[in-house]
Amino acid sequence: MENKKYKNYVLRNFRDLSQLQLLSDEEREAIGVVGQVLPFKSNNYVVEELIDWNNVPNDPIFTLTFPRKEMLSKTHYAQVKQLLDAHDEGGLKQKVHEIRFKLNPNPAGQEHNVPAIDGIRLHGMQHKYRETVLFFPSQGQTCHAYCTFCFRWPQFSGMNELKFAMKEADLLHRYLKKHTRVTDVLFTGGDPLTAKAHIMAAYIEPLLTKEYAHIRIIRIGSKTLGYWPYRFLTDKDADDLLRLFEKVTKAGKHLAFQAHFNHPVELSTDAVKKAIARIRNTGAQIRTQSPLLRHINDDPAVWATLWKEQVNLGLIPYYMFVARDTGSKAFFDVPLERAWNIYRKAYRNVSGICRTVRGPSMSANPGKIQILGVTEIQGEKVFVLRFLQCRNPDLVDIPFFAKFDRKATWFDELVPAFGEKEFFFQKDNLLGWHGKEPDFIWE
Ligand SMILES: *Cc1c(COP(=O)(O)O)cnc(C)c1O
Ligand code: SF4
Repeated sequence: MENKKYKNYVLRNFRDLSQLQLLSDEEREAIGVVGQVLPFKSNNYVVEELIDWNNVPNDPIFTLTFPRKEMLSKTHYAQVKQLLDAHDEGGLKQKVHEIRFKLNPNPAGQEHNVPAIDGIRLHGMQHKYRETVLFFPSQGQTCHAYCTFCFRWPQFSGMNELKFAMKEADLLHRYLKKHTRVTDVLFTGGDPLTAKAHIMAAYIEPLLTKEYAHIRIIRIGSKTLGYWPYRFLTDKDADDLLRLFEKVTKAGKHLAFQAHFNHPVELSTDAVKKAIARIRNTGAQIRTQSPLLRHINDDPAVWATLWKEQVNLGLIPYYMFVARDTGSKAFFDVPLERAWNIYRKAYRNVSGICRTVRGPSMSANPGKIQILGVTEIQGEKVFVLRFLQCRNPDLVDIPFFAKFDRKATWFDELVPAFGEKEFFFQKDNLLGWHGKEPDFIWE
Protein backbone atom coordinates (compact mmCIF):
# COMPACT_ATOMS: atom_id res chain seq x y z
CA MET A 1 0.00 0.00 0.00
CA GLU A 2 1.33 3.36 -1.02
CA ASN A 3 1.76 5.72 1.91
CA LYS A 4 0.15 8.81 0.50
CA LYS A 5 1.19 11.99 2.23
CA TYR A 6 -1.64 14.41 2.78
CA LYS A 7 -1.60 17.46 0.60
CA ASN A 8 -4.30 20.09 0.70
CA TYR A 9 -5.39 22.38 -2.06
CA VAL A 10 -7.11 25.55 -0.88
CA LEU A 11 -7.71 28.97 -2.42
CA ARG A 12 -4.17 30.05 -1.62
CA ASN A 13 -2.41 27.30 -3.58
CA PHE A 14 -4.91 25.77 -5.99
CA ARG A 15 -2.99 27.27 -8.90
CA ASP A 16 -0.13 24.86 -8.10
CA LEU A 17 -2.24 22.01 -9.39
CA SER A 18 -0.81 20.96 -12.73
CA GLN A 19 -4.13 19.32 -13.66
CA LEU A 20 -5.76 22.76 -13.74
CA GLN A 21 -4.02 23.40 -17.05
CA LEU A 22 -6.79 21.25 -18.51
CA LEU A 23 -9.34 23.91 -17.59
CA SER A 24 -10.21 27.02 -19.55
CA ASP A 25 -9.19 30.45 -18.21
CA GLU A 26 -12.79 31.09 -17.29
CA GLU A 27 -13.08 27.85 -15.30
CA ARG A 28 -9.88 28.60 -13.40
CA GLU A 29 -11.10 32.11 -12.67
CA ALA A 30 -14.38 30.69 -11.33
CA ILE A 31 -12.55 28.69 -8.65
CA GLY A 32 -10.92 31.88 -7.41
CA VAL A 33 -14.14 33.90 -7.48
CA VAL A 34 -16.75 31.41 -6.19
CA GLY A 35 -14.20 30.09 -3.70
CA GLN A 36 -14.33 33.46 -1.92
CA VAL A 37 -17.93 32.80 -0.94
CA LEU A 38 -18.21 29.02 -0.68
CA PRO A 39 -15.17 27.56 1.04
CA PHE A 40 -12.93 25.47 -1.20
CA LYS A 41 -10.66 22.64 -0.17
CA SER A 42 -9.45 19.53 -1.94
CA ASN A 43 -6.61 17.06 -1.52
CA ASN A 44 -4.26 14.88 -3.51
CA TYR A 45 -6.40 11.71 -3.18
CA VAL A 46 -9.46 13.44 -4.64
CA VAL A 47 -7.38 15.08 -7.35
CA GLU A 48 -5.25 12.07 -8.31
CA GLU A 49 -7.50 9.08 -7.74
CA LEU A 50 -11.13 10.24 -7.97
CA ILE A 51 -11.36 12.98 -10.60
CA ASP A 52 -11.15 11.94 -14.22
CA TRP A 53 -9.41 15.00 -15.64
CA ASN A 54 -10.30 13.98 -19.19
CA ASN A 55 -13.88 14.64 -18.23
CA VAL A 56 -13.62 18.06 -16.55
CA PRO A 57 -15.52 20.26 -15.92
CA ASN A 58 -18.38 17.74 -16.05
CA ASP A 59 -16.67 15.04 -14.00
CA PRO A 60 -18.91 14.38 -10.96
CA ILE A 61 -16.14 14.52 -8.37
CA PHE A 62 -14.68 17.66 -9.92
CA THR A 63 -18.11 19.28 -9.66
CA LEU A 64 -18.50 17.98 -6.14
CA THR A 65 -15.32 19.60 -4.90
CA PHE A 66 -14.28 22.46 -7.23
CA PRO A 67 -16.29 25.68 -7.38
CA ARG A 68 -17.91 26.41 -10.73
CA LYS A 69 -19.24 29.67 -12.07
CA GLU A 70 -22.88 28.59 -12.05
CA MET A 71 -22.80 27.98 -8.29
CA LEU A 72 -23.27 31.70 -7.69
CA SER A 73 -25.91 33.92 -9.29
CA LYS A 74 -24.64 36.04 -12.18
CA THR A 75 -24.97 39.20 -10.10
CA HIS A 76 -23.08 37.85 -7.11
CA TYR A 77 -20.36 36.45 -9.36
CA ALA A 78 -19.88 39.80 -11.08
CA GLN A 79 -19.78 41.68 -7.78
CA VAL A 80 -17.13 39.42 -6.26
CA LYS A 81 -15.05 39.40 -9.43
CA GLN A 82 -15.09 43.18 -9.67
CA LEU A 83 -13.90 43.63 -6.08
CA LEU A 84 -11.20 40.99 -6.57
CA ASP A 85 -9.95 42.70 -9.72
CA ALA A 86 -9.89 46.03 -7.90
CA HIS A 87 -7.92 44.46 -5.00
CA ASP A 88 -10.48 46.04 -2.69
CA GLU A 89 -10.02 43.75 0.33
CA GLY A 90 -12.36 45.58 2.68
CA GLY A 91 -15.12 45.80 0.10
CA LEU A 92 -14.65 42.15 -0.81
CA LYS A 93 -14.90 40.99 2.77
CA GLN A 94 -18.11 42.91 3.30
CA LYS A 95 -19.67 41.73 0.04
CA VAL A 96 -18.77 38.09 0.72
CA HIS A 97 -20.37 38.33 4.15
CA GLU A 98 -23.50 39.87 2.65
CA ILE A 99 -23.80 37.20 -0.06
CA ARG A 100 -23.29 34.39 2.42
CA PHE A 101 -26.18 35.62 4.52
CA LYS A 102 -28.40 35.63 1.44
CA LEU A 103 -27.51 31.97 0.84
CA ASN A 104 -29.44 30.78 3.89
CA PRO A 105 -26.45 29.74 5.97
CA ASN A 106 -28.50 28.05 8.64
CA PRO A 107 -31.23 25.94 7.10
CA ALA A 108 -33.91 23.98 8.95
CA GLY A 109 -33.49 25.76 12.25
CA GLN A 110 -30.30 24.06 13.33
CA GLU A 111 -29.93 26.66 16.06
CA HIS A 112 -32.99 25.07 17.63
CA ASN A 113 -32.83 21.69 19.33
CA VAL A 114 -29.81 22.89 21.30
CA PRO A 115 -30.19 21.27 24.70
CA ALA A 116 -29.16 22.66 28.06
CA ILE A 117 -27.88 21.30 31.33
CA ASP A 118 -28.02 23.26 34.58
CA GLY A 119 -28.97 26.30 32.55
CA ILE A 120 -25.93 26.06 30.24
CA ARG A 121 -26.81 25.87 26.56
CA LEU A 122 -24.78 23.09 24.98
CA HIS A 123 -23.88 24.63 21.65
CA GLY A 124 -21.93 21.63 20.45
CA MET A 125 -24.97 19.39 20.62
CA GLN A 126 -28.37 18.94 19.04
CA HIS A 127 -31.09 16.82 20.52
CA LYS A 128 -34.01 16.75 18.13
CA TYR A 129 -35.14 13.13 18.06
CA ARG A 130 -35.69 11.38 21.35
CA GLU A 131 -33.22 8.51 20.93
CA THR A 132 -30.34 10.30 19.28
CA VAL A 133 -28.03 13.08 20.43
CA LEU A 134 -25.80 14.77 17.88
CA PHE A 135 -22.40 15.89 19.07
CA PHE A 136 -20.05 18.19 17.16
CA PRO A 137 -16.51 17.78 18.52
CA SER A 138 -14.76 21.12 18.15
CA GLN A 139 -11.72 19.37 16.66
CA GLY A 140 -13.85 17.95 13.85
CA GLN A 141 -15.22 21.20 12.44
CA THR A 142 -13.46 20.77 9.13
CA CYS A 143 -13.34 18.14 6.38
CA HIS A 144 -10.68 16.46 4.27
CA ALA A 145 -12.19 18.19 1.26
CA TYR A 146 -15.27 20.41 1.00
CA CYS A 147 -18.35 19.51 -0.96
CA THR A 148 -19.67 22.33 -3.08
CA PHE A 149 -23.27 21.51 -2.08
CA CYS A 150 -22.52 21.45 1.66
CA PHE A 151 -24.96 23.00 4.15
CA ARG A 152 -22.29 23.07 6.85
CA TRP A 153 -20.19 25.62 4.99
CA PRO A 154 -20.74 28.41 7.56
CA GLN A 155 -18.81 26.25 9.99
CA PHE A 156 -15.80 26.24 7.67
CA SER A 157 -15.98 29.83 6.51
CA GLY A 158 -15.45 31.51 9.82
CA MET A 159 -19.07 32.50 10.43
CA ASN A 160 -18.41 31.73 14.02
CA GLU A 161 -21.71 32.69 15.50
CA LEU A 162 -23.13 29.70 13.67
CA LYS A 163 -20.51 27.27 14.80
CA PHE A 164 -21.91 24.45 16.86
CA ALA A 165 -18.71 23.04 18.25
CA MET A 166 -18.34 22.37 21.92
CA LYS A 167 -15.05 21.88 23.67
CA GLU A 168 -16.03 20.10 26.79
CA ALA A 169 -16.51 16.36 26.55
CA ASP A 170 -17.54 16.69 30.15
CA LEU A 171 -20.77 18.49 29.30
CA LEU A 172 -21.65 15.84 26.73
CA HIS A 173 -21.10 13.11 29.29
CA ARG A 174 -23.11 14.89 31.95
CA TYR A 175 -26.00 15.40 29.58
CA LEU A 176 -26.03 11.77 28.49
CA LYS A 177 -25.83 10.47 32.02
CA LYS A 178 -29.00 12.36 32.82
CA HIS A 179 -30.95 11.47 29.68
CA THR A 180 -31.37 7.74 29.88
CA ARG A 181 -33.83 7.55 26.98
CA VAL A 182 -31.00 8.40 24.64
CA THR A 183 -29.63 5.24 23.03
CA ASP A 184 -27.55 6.75 20.22
CA VAL A 185 -24.79 9.32 20.16
CA LEU A 186 -23.94 10.54 16.70
CA PHE A 187 -20.55 12.21 16.31
CA THR A 188 -20.72 14.60 13.41
CA GLY A 189 -19.01 17.74 12.12
CA GLY A 190 -17.71 18.82 9.64
CA ASP A 191 -16.09 15.46 9.77
CA PRO A 192 -15.26 14.14 13.25
CA LEU A 193 -12.55 11.91 11.78
CA THR A 194 -10.45 14.94 10.96
CA ALA A 195 -9.81 14.85 14.72
CA LYS A 196 -6.99 12.72 16.08
CA ALA A 197 -7.75 9.24 17.41
CA HIS A 198 -6.90 10.20 21.00
CA ILE A 199 -9.37 13.09 20.86
CA MET A 200 -12.14 10.78 19.67
CA ALA A 201 -11.14 8.33 22.39
CA ALA A 202 -11.61 11.02 25.04
CA TYR A 203 -15.19 11.50 23.89
CA ILE A 204 -16.06 7.86 23.27
CA GLU A 205 -14.25 5.71 25.83
CA PRO A 206 -16.09 7.06 28.90
CA LEU A 207 -19.34 6.05 27.19
CA LEU A 208 -18.26 2.41 27.38
CA THR A 209 -18.50 2.36 31.17
CA LYS A 210 -21.41 1.07 33.24
CA GLU A 211 -22.90 4.50 33.90
CA TYR A 212 -23.77 4.76 30.22
CA ALA A 213 -25.38 1.35 29.82
CA HIS A 214 -28.33 3.07 28.08
CA ILE A 215 -26.06 4.24 25.25
CA ARG A 216 -26.19 1.27 22.88
CA ILE A 217 -25.03 2.77 19.62
CA ILE A 218 -22.04 4.99 18.89
CA ARG A 219 -22.40 6.51 15.48
CA ILE A 220 -19.76 8.35 13.51
CA GLY A 221 -20.92 10.36 10.50
CA SER A 222 -17.96 10.81 8.19
CA LYS A 223 -16.91 11.55 4.63
CA THR A 224 -13.37 10.34 5.27
CA LEU A 225 -13.79 7.01 3.45
CA GLY A 226 -14.82 8.97 0.37
CA TYR A 227 -12.27 11.77 0.60
CA TRP A 228 -9.27 10.38 2.50
CA PRO A 229 -9.29 6.58 3.04
CA TYR A 230 -5.62 6.74 4.05
CA ARG A 231 -7.00 7.90 7.40
CA PHE A 232 -7.62 4.20 8.08
CA LEU A 233 -4.50 2.87 6.35
CA THR A 234 -1.32 4.86 6.59
CA ASP A 235 -2.03 7.99 8.65
CA LYS A 236 0.06 8.05 11.82
CA ASP A 237 -2.82 7.20 14.15
CA ALA A 238 -4.75 4.96 11.73
CA ASP A 239 -4.21 1.89 13.91
CA ASP A 240 -5.18 3.78 17.07
CA LEU A 241 -8.46 4.80 15.47
CA LEU A 242 -9.26 1.23 14.46
CA ARG A 243 -8.40 0.02 17.96
CA LEU A 244 -10.87 2.57 19.33
CA PHE A 245 -13.58 1.15 17.05
CA GLU A 246 -12.70 -2.31 18.30
CA LYS A 247 -12.99 -1.20 21.91
CA VAL A 248 -16.54 -0.05 21.25
CA THR A 249 -17.62 -3.32 19.69
CA LYS A 250 -15.79 -5.37 22.33
CA ALA A 251 -17.67 -3.42 25.01
CA GLY A 252 -20.83 -4.89 23.47
CA LYS A 253 -22.00 -1.68 21.77
CA HIS A 254 -22.78 -1.13 18.16
CA LEU A 255 -20.37 1.07 16.26
CA ALA A 256 -22.35 2.51 13.37
CA PHE A 257 -20.12 4.18 10.82
CA GLN A 258 -22.29 6.43 8.68
CA ALA A 259 -20.30 6.95 5.51
CA HIS A 260 -21.13 9.58 2.93
CA PHE A 261 -20.68 8.46 -0.65
CA ASN A 262 -22.05 10.59 -3.46
CA HIS A 263 -20.91 8.62 -6.48
CA PRO A 264 -19.79 5.04 -7.25
CA VAL A 265 -16.32 6.21 -8.27
CA GLU A 266 -15.64 6.86 -4.57
CA LEU A 267 -15.98 3.10 -3.99
CA SER A 268 -13.62 2.10 -6.78
CA THR A 269 -10.07 2.70 -5.51
CA ASP A 270 -7.81 0.16 -3.83
CA ALA A 271 -7.40 2.53 -0.91
CA VAL A 272 -11.14 2.80 -0.14
CA LYS A 273 -11.66 -0.95 -0.48
CA LYS A 274 -8.83 -1.69 1.92
CA ALA A 275 -10.06 0.95 4.36
CA ILE A 276 -13.57 -0.53 4.31
CA ALA A 277 -12.20 -4.00 5.00
CA ARG A 278 -10.13 -2.72 7.93
CA ILE A 279 -13.10 -0.91 9.48
CA ARG A 280 -15.35 -3.93 9.09
CA ASN A 281 -12.70 -6.06 10.75
CA THR A 282 -13.18 -4.09 13.95
CA GLY A 283 -16.80 -5.25 14.15
CA ALA A 284 -18.12 -1.85 13.08
CA GLN A 285 -20.99 -1.74 10.62
CA ILE A 286 -20.86 0.80 7.80
CA ARG A 287 -24.09 2.41 6.57
CA THR A 288 -24.23 4.90 3.74
CA GLN A 289 -26.04 8.09 2.86
CA SER A 290 -25.95 10.79 0.24
CA PRO A 291 -27.98 13.66 -1.09
CA LEU A 292 -29.39 13.51 -4.58
CA LEU A 293 -27.56 16.16 -6.59
CA ARG A 294 -28.03 17.42 -10.13
CA HIS A 295 -24.72 17.24 -12.08
CA ILE A 296 -23.45 14.55 -9.67
CA ASN A 297 -25.84 11.65 -9.27
CA ASP A 298 -29.26 12.57 -10.70
CA ASP A 299 -29.59 9.31 -12.59
CA PRO A 300 -31.26 6.08 -11.40
CA ALA A 301 -28.46 3.97 -12.92
CA VAL A 302 -25.89 5.79 -10.78
CA TRP A 303 -27.86 5.09 -7.60
CA ALA A 304 -28.50 1.45 -8.48
CA THR A 305 -24.76 1.00 -9.07
CA LEU A 306 -23.95 2.85 -5.87
CA TRP A 307 -26.21 0.64 -3.74
CA LYS A 308 -25.12 -2.60 -5.43
CA GLU A 309 -21.45 -1.78 -5.08
CA GLN A 310 -21.98 -0.85 -1.43
CA VAL A 311 -23.64 -4.17 -0.72
CA ASN A 312 -20.79 -5.97 -2.51
CA LEU A 313 -18.35 -4.30 -0.17
CA GLY A 314 -20.44 -5.13 2.91
CA LEU A 315 -22.02 -1.70 3.44
CA ILE A 316 -25.71 -1.08 4.17
CA PRO A 317 -27.51 1.59 2.10
CA TYR A 318 -29.31 3.84 4.59
CA TYR A 319 -30.55 7.25 3.37
CA MET A 320 -31.03 9.20 0.14
CA PHE A 321 -31.50 12.88 0.97
CA VAL A 322 -32.95 15.81 -0.92
CA ALA A 323 -30.31 18.58 -1.11
CA ARG A 324 -30.82 21.26 1.54
CA ASP A 325 -32.00 24.75 0.78
CA THR A 326 -28.68 26.50 1.28
CA GLY A 327 -25.48 27.58 -0.46
CA SER A 328 -25.34 26.57 -4.10
CA LYS A 329 -28.65 24.71 -3.98
CA ALA A 330 -29.88 26.32 -7.20
CA PHE A 331 -27.06 24.50 -9.03
CA PHE A 332 -27.73 21.11 -7.48
CA ASP A 333 -31.44 20.94 -6.77
CA VAL A 334 -33.77 18.33 -8.25
CA PRO A 335 -37.57 18.84 -8.19
CA LEU A 336 -39.25 16.54 -5.69
CA GLU A 337 -41.23 14.60 -8.28
CA ARG A 338 -38.05 13.90 -10.22
CA ALA A 339 -36.25 12.94 -7.02
CA TRP A 340 -38.93 10.38 -6.28
CA ASN A 341 -38.74 9.00 -9.83
CA ILE A 342 -34.96 8.62 -9.65
CA TYR A 343 -35.29 6.86 -6.30
CA ARG A 344 -38.03 4.54 -7.45
CA LYS A 345 -36.33 3.61 -10.74
CA ALA A 346 -33.10 2.80 -8.91
CA TYR A 347 -34.93 0.94 -6.13
CA ARG A 348 -36.80 -1.34 -8.51
CA ASN A 349 -33.52 -2.31 -10.19
CA VAL A 350 -31.84 -3.72 -7.11
CA SER A 351 -32.57 -6.79 -5.01
CA GLY A 352 -34.23 -6.68 -1.62
CA ILE A 353 -30.81 -6.72 0.06
CA CYS A 354 -30.15 -3.17 -1.21
CA ARG A 355 -33.62 -1.93 -0.24
CA THR A 356 -32.58 -1.02 3.27
CA VAL A 357 -32.26 2.48 1.84
CA ARG A 358 -34.95 5.08 2.50
CA GLY A 359 -35.62 8.25 0.57
CA PRO A 360 -35.86 10.72 -0.89
CA SER A 361 -35.89 12.36 2.51
CA MET A 362 -35.95 16.05 3.45
CA SER A 363 -34.45 17.07 6.77
CA ALA A 364 -36.93 19.83 7.45
CA ASN A 365 -37.84 21.67 10.62
CA PRO A 366 -40.41 19.20 12.00
CA GLY A 367 -38.40 16.14 11.02
CA LYS A 368 -37.18 13.89 8.23
CA ILE A 369 -39.92 13.77 5.62
CA GLN A 370 -39.92 11.03 2.99
CA ILE A 371 -41.60 11.40 -0.38
CA LEU A 372 -43.53 8.15 -0.71
CA GLY A 373 -44.92 9.03 -4.09
CA VAL A 374 -47.13 11.06 -6.36
CA THR A 375 -50.71 9.94 -6.84
CA GLU A 376 -54.22 11.18 -7.50
CA ILE A 377 -56.91 11.19 -4.84
CA GLN A 378 -60.44 12.18 -5.78
CA GLY A 379 -59.18 14.01 -8.83
CA GLU A 380 -56.42 15.94 -7.03
CA LYS A 381 -52.78 15.20 -7.76
CA VAL A 382 -50.85 14.96 -4.48
CA PHE A 383 -47.53 14.07 -2.90
CA VAL A 384 -47.79 11.27 -0.36
CA LEU A 385 -45.40 11.98 2.50
CA ARG A 386 -44.47 10.56 5.87
CA PHE A 387 -42.11 11.31 8.72
CA LEU A 388 -39.13 8.98 8.98
CA GLN A 389 -38.10 10.95 12.04
CA CYS A 390 -40.07 13.57 13.91
CA ARG A 391 -39.58 15.74 16.97
CA ASN A 392 -42.77 14.09 18.15
CA PRO A 393 -42.14 10.35 17.75
CA ASP A 394 -45.89 9.60 17.77
CA LEU A 395 -46.17 11.21 14.34
CA VAL A 396 -43.65 8.94 12.60
CA ASP A 397 -44.92 6.79 9.75
CA ILE A 398 -48.36 8.42 9.39
CA PRO A 399 -49.00 9.17 5.70
CA PHE A 400 -50.00 12.74 4.87
CA PHE A 401 -50.61 14.70 1.71
CA ALA A 402 -49.37 17.85 0.05
CA LYS A 403 -50.75 19.48 -3.05
CA PHE A 404 -48.70 18.40 -6.06
CA ASP A 405 -46.24 21.01 -7.27
CA ARG A 406 -44.18 20.20 -10.35
CA LYS A 407 -41.46 22.70 -9.52
CA ALA A 408 -41.13 22.28 -5.76
CA THR A 409 -37.65 21.31 -4.59
CA TRP A 410 -38.13 21.50 -0.81
CA PHE A 411 -40.80 20.92 1.79
CA ASP A 412 -41.42 24.58 2.61
CA GLU A 413 -42.64 25.14 -0.96
CA LEU A 414 -45.47 22.64 -0.41
CA VAL A 415 -48.97 23.33 0.90
CA PRO A 416 -51.50 20.85 2.31
CA ALA A 417 -53.67 18.97 -0.20
CA PHE A 418 -57.48 19.12 -0.44
CA GLY A 419 -57.58 22.86 0.35
CA GLU A 420 -56.71 22.31 4.00
CA LYS A 421 -55.09 25.13 5.91
CA GLU A 422 -52.56 23.13 7.87
CA PHE A 423 -50.67 19.87 7.72
CA PHE A 424 -51.79 17.43 10.42
CA PHE A 425 -48.68 18.03 12.51
CA GLN A 426 -49.32 21.78 12.61
CA LYS A 427 -52.54 21.28 14.51
CA ASP A 428 -52.86 21.31 18.29
CA ASN A 429 -49.20 22.18 18.83
CA LEU A 430 -48.26 18.57 18.07
CA LEU A 431 -44.65 19.58 17.63
CA GLY A 432 -44.43 21.41 20.92
CA TRP A 433 -43.67 24.87 19.54
CA HIS A 434 -45.27 27.13 22.08
CA GLY A 435 -43.01 30.06 21.50
CA LYS A 436 -39.78 30.59 19.61
CA GLU A 437 -38.01 27.58 21.12
CA PRO A 438 -39.31 24.02 20.94
CA ASP A 439 -40.25 22.21 24.09
CA PHE A 440 -38.72 18.79 24.36
CA ILE A 441 -42.10 17.15 24.24
CA TRP A 442 -40.89 13.60 24.73
CA GLU A 443 -39.35 14.13 28.12
C1 LIG B 1 -30.91 12.40 10.82
C2 LIG B 1 -30.78 12.90 12.17
C3 LIG B 1 -30.61 12.02 13.23
C4 LIG B 1 -30.52 10.51 13.05
O1 LIG B 1 -31.69 9.98 12.51
P1 LIG B 1 -31.80 8.42 12.18
O2 LIG B 1 -33.01 8.29 11.35
O3 LIG B 1 -31.91 7.72 13.48
O4 LIG B 1 -30.54 8.05 11.47
C5 LIG B 1 -30.54 12.55 14.49
N1 LIG B 1 -30.63 13.89 14.73
C6 LIG B 1 -30.82 14.76 13.72
C7 LIG B 1 -30.92 16.22 14.03
C8 LIG B 1 -30.89 14.31 12.40
O5 LIG B 1 -31.07 15.18 11.41
S1 SF4 C 1 -17.98 16.07 3.93
FE1 SF4 C 1 -20.01 16.62 4.70
S2 SF4 C 1 -19.68 18.27 6.14
FE2 SF4 C 1 -17.80 18.04 4.91
S3 SF4 C 1 -17.99 19.45 3.20
FE3 SF4 C 1 -18.84 17.52 2.52
S4 SF4 C 1 -21.04 17.59 2.97
FE4 SF4 C 1 -20.03 19.20 4.15
